[in-house]
Amino acid sequence: MNVNQSVPPVPSFGQPQPVYPGYHQSSYGGQSGSTAPTIPYGAYNGPVPGYQQTPPQGMSRAPPSSGAPPASTAQAPCGQAAYGQFGQGDIQNGPSSTVQMQRLPGSQPFGSPLAPVGNQPAVLQPYGPPPTSAQVTAQLSGMQISGAVAPAPPSSGLGYGPPTSLASASGSFPNSGLYGSYPQGQASPLSQAQGHPGIQTPQRSAPSQASGFTPPASGGPRLPSMTGPLLPGQSFGGPSVSQPNHVSSPPPQALPPGTQMTGPLGPLPPMHSPQQPGYQPQQNGSFGPARGPQPNYGSPYPAAPTFGSQSGPQPLPPKRLDPDAIPSPIQVIEDDRNNRGTEPFVTGVRGQVPPLVTTNFLVKDQGNASPRYIRCTSYNIPCTSDMAKQAQVPLAAVIKPLASLPPEEASPYVVDHGESGPLRCNRCKAYMCPFMQFIEGGRRFQCCFCSCINDVPPQYFQHLDHTGKRVDAYDRPELSLGSYEFLATVDYCKNNKFPSPPAFIFMIDVSYNAIRTGLVRLLCEELKSLLDFLPREGGAEESAIRVGFVTYNKVLHFYNVKSSLAQPQMMVVSDVADMFVPLLDGFLVNVNESRAVITSLLDQIPEMFADTRETETVFVPVIQAGMEALKAAECAGKLFLFHTSLPIAEAPGKLKNRDDRKLINTDKEKTLFQPQTGAYQTLAKECVAQGCCVDLFLFPNQYVDVATLSVVPQLTGGSVYKYACFQVENDQERFLSDLRRDVQKVVGFDAVMRVRTSTGIRAVDFFGAFYMSNTTDVELAGLDGDKTVTVEFKHDDRLNEESGALLQCALLYTSCAGQRRLRIHNLALNCCTQLADLYRNCETDTLINYMAKFAYRGVLNSPVKAVRDTLITQCAQILACYRKNCASPSSAGQLILPECMKLLPVYLNCVLKSDVLQPGAEITTDDRAYVRQLVTSMDVAETNVFFYPRLLPLTKSPIESTTEPPAVRASEERLSNGDMYLLENGLNLFLWVGASVQQGVVQSLFSVSSFSQITSGLSVLPVLDNPLSKKVRGLIDSLRAQRSRYMKLIVVKQEDKLEMLFKHFLVEDKSLSGGASYVDFLCHMHKEIRQLLS
Ligand SMILES: [Zn+2]
Repeated sequence: MNVNQSVPPVPSFGQPQPVYPGYHQSSYGGQSGSTAPTIPYGAYNGPVPGYQQTPPQGMSRAPPSSGAPPASTAQAPCGQAAYGQFGQGDIQNGPSSTVQMQRLPGSQPFGSPLAPVGNQPAVLQPYGPPPTSAQVTAQLSGMQISGAVAPAPPSSGLGYGPPTSLASASGSFPNSGLYGSYPQGQASPLSQAQGHPGIQTPQRSAPSQASGFTPPASGGPRLPSMTGPLLPGQSFGGPSVSQPNHVSSPPPQALPPGTQMTGPLGPLPPMHSPQQPGYQPQQNGSFGPARGPQPNYGSPYPAAPTFGSQSGPQPLPPKRLDPDAIPSPIQVIEDDRNNRGTEPFVTGVRGQVPPLVTTNFLVKDQGNASPRYIRCTSYNIPCTSDMAKQAQVPLAAVIKPLASLPPEEASPYVVDHGESGPLRCNRCKAYMCPFMQFIEGGRRFQCCFCSCINDVPPQYFQHLDHTGKRVDAYDRPELSLGSYEFLATVDYCKNNKFPSPPAFIFMIDVSYNAIRTGLVRLLCEELKSLLDFLPREGGAEESAIRVGFVTYNKVLHFYNVKSSLAQPQMMVVSDVADMFVPLLDGFLVNVNESRAVITSLLDQIPEMFADTRETETVFVPVIQAGMEALKAAECAGKLFLFHTSLPIAEAPGKLKNRDDRKLINTDKEKTLFQPQTGAYQTLAKECVAQGCCVDLFLFPNQYVDVATLSVVPQLTGGSVYKYACFQVENDQERFLSDLRRDVQKVVGFDAVMRVRTSTGIRAVDFFGAFYMSNTTDVELAGLDGDKTVTVEFKHDDRLNEESGALLQCALLYTSCAGQRRLRIHNLALNCCTQLADLYRNCETDTLINYMAKFAYRGVLNSPVKAVRDTLITQCAQILACYRKNCASPSSAGQLILPECMKLLPVYLNCVLKSDVLQPGAEITTDDRAYVRQLVTSMDVAETNVFFYPRLLPLTKSPIESTTEPPAVRASEERLSNGDMYLLENGLNLFLWVGASVQQGVVQSLFSVSSFSQITSGLSVLPVLDNPLSKKVRGLIDSLRAQRSRYMKLIVVKQEDKLEMLFKHFLVEDKSLSGGASYVDFLCHMHKEIRQLLS
């Protein structure tokens, strides 16, 4: 079905366009595209910056002549729509689609044959353009771990045992607000099964059986990808022409173990390859002697450090791998920025791997969804499930349907098909998209997902050009773009009624703790102004969102704030067992109309409860009340709950303190992550049905059971914020900043998301903050632009290299103005019959996102050690499969990593030693539950920096430089005591000050005369009028602006006791909780791989 390319005529985006039937001109007219983000009906005709410059090219569909046969009648509907008209049936068993996208080699808009691995737009040829597959060949000197030198560690499985010295961490951290240590309560092991599938340990497939996979006949020489040490005698023959990674049946197991140490212990001189910068030794790296084991940290691999034996010059007992010779996250990030940050990423080519999330780049939508909306673990999927099982690379997409875009990129256009609604496939209900294939002169179209032949409605008819493409293809977003929206008809609405605008209800804990800390006063004061910034749409003068107010301790107080009242009226409901809403009229109001009454109420609330002695609170009845209020008002909405304590008052959802650290590392540890009672899930389900999303702001002084309290936010698409030991003077900036952002952010309400796939793969598992009542529909009471849903795919049939694989994510939601819409994202992926193509097109950051979510869900049902072992095994299998099937034959003493996955070990180690999977003594149960919950809906950029924090030196770069200083690796040995560093991970922000920092620097930044006078734990830098102060404060502001939550600053001095807290984030080092150093983990991984291969 190869089709001649046709570069379309000049695209009509930005030009006057003829009126097409069913295409409501009025919706697009006259508005400037550059203001699209705030315009509900994007200016489709308007100038779209960038879009005109590069005409959409190369997208052409095959003429109908040789199309696949009409869908057979054998297919039965599978899956029932549980949600009105949305997605009825889900039939994807048709013959494989013949639609494909191609691009003339010369028309590739981006990328060149010289681009680094994974960057090439993989086009039609199954074996892609040249030499993509450099390997990382880190020669782990003396890595005969399986030999006699390093006996396997004892019983704890793979030597990756549980932290044995949990209690050994001496001293407790000062209360930083990060890890407050709370009094502990008694245990009450409870097991509320959550219905999540347990962790399944991937089966170890015999590496020798390459079923369904035929090794290519000849393997070309590899392209050197790195300048690290290479085995002597291993020569690179220059760029290979094809299949560089493929080697014919290397028999690694034939190599005698223990004899692979052919090289000297030290690295060979770097070999620079012309095109591939690879990673280079970093600045202060030197091999060997300088680096002993870090003091005070127990080694998780007792025997691992004893590598090699002879030639090392250093007297220290353990010889360590040179940290500069192993893949560096910093270098990979830097290389990608340099190589891919300068050109826009154009989405017209199927299966292109996007730049890393750490690279700034612009996206031009030419038929596939932007990576801001969808990122995949691999952009080239194995054709068969056998191959997929062999490789063990999870096939997953991280989808952020409402992602916000930079101002340079236009929001999705809104398409209005009038009363007929969006055009869909009759059988699988997929929405019209660029991959649908028009046939029979344009009178019918074949579905690219299920191959069903559909009639084109008369009002949608359009002629085809000589290539079989509709002549209006570039005038219609749904025929030319990867992402767009449809206005939904009444058929897509609950009860066949268009929705009312949503409402926000603020529900404020006024118990003793909330009053005492000043929280209530602060919050009420802030709300007075914040209510002017409720989300608006389309340049509307005021928000359509109505607001309501409730306060509570062990009873609830509702407020009538009707505009006609002189003063607000309070109604108390003390029967919390059977919650009802005592008033309807006057509870939800328009802010502007009721402003005086609302202001009066917010003034009075702190006074009314100023003398309260009530310490007990309820929780479930509060949410119940909010949900009932929305139900009565027949609208969706959001509850903002401000809560301080464990709800121990007599009421539904009453909790007890069941925190018990003794459960850590036992089989019962999972109960700490499970909700204490089923009442919360039942409530969440009701909330979802009502489109009631819950955002929870917690202000605990002690254990509040975050695992239970976060169930409702989690299942309703809401957010949880936690401010331990809240004090107004220390935490108000962070809280208010989070609150402002949370209240203002654009939310889609009462949403349902469905992911359709072309024949051969199927979405089988979902991760994120949502609820599912069946196996296909992701139900979200609310969805904001920060939330992601991770979807895993499995094969249910053979895929076809020619047609590739398609995903279509459809999100039905109510906008904040009450408009019902469908947002559609399409993505086409390549399919391969060679494993090397899979490994060439992977995205490690996305893989880690998936693996972390998989593991964090696993702890609900399995011991954390089992979860960690599963991750390690899977990682080893992924890398062993590569080694066996794709790498050149070489010494088994070498660790060979795929170029695209060379950071997999370091990043995976960060996941393994994270607080959830390997808690340190200072981490509370609530902290772990909180983080677990947060990670569940993080996007790829967030998990990337969360697991591997950024560490930025402050005085290395010129003072006048306005760019961010280049980061250094997260290891103590990268810290110079004459410098200062900022460390951030998206949640925490530290300023580490070396003990030998120049006095002038100390003066400029802290306004004190010496290091010793700097206040440890300081959270605000003085505002000083000098270049350094301005620069550092500016950098802090800029880091904060990049993250979805406010990061409170903590100043840490070298050798100070707070430093322990900071070191927790130096993730390449061994951790106090027993987490391995990067070097040790890499050795361990190498050993695992060798075991699999032998
Ligand atoms: Zn279909």
